[in-house]
Amino acid sequence: MNKQLSGGCFCGSIRYTFEHGDYLTANCHCTMCRRTSAAPFVSWIVVPNNHFRYTAGKPKLLKSSGHGSRYFCPDCGTPIACILDSHPDVIDITLCSLDTPETIIPEHEVYTETRMPWLTTNK
Ligand SMILES: [Zn+2]
Ligand SMILES: [Zn+2]
Repeated sequence: MNKQLSGGCFCGSIRYTFEHGDYLTANCHCTMCRRTSAAPFVSWIVVPNNHFRYTAGKPKLLKSSGHGSRYFCPDCGTPIACILDSHPDVIDITLCSLDTPETIIPEHEVYTETRMPWLTTNK
């Protein structure tokens, strides 16, 4: 059995856990990620629904576009998850809401056409 990873929001109302695996990871530079996080980009890990569960609290739904739903803590506002209508079998989790985000290195950069020009990374 793979090891369990856990995470949650800043205030602790929302907690989650999932079984770690070889999952897709990406830094997203799209304008919706930027606005909903107020950060230059958001790092995501894509987890199969059947490996993921909330262990405390219930996030608030924000229908962020015609084809996507975002979930955040209603108490402290931490962005937690995103579900795309086109991929209902997976849940995108904000990598930096993990308890150990430093253990997973995002593999891809997406929506780089709207990436902040002042952002410097090693990619
Ligand atoms: Zn919270
Ligand atoms: Zn995005």
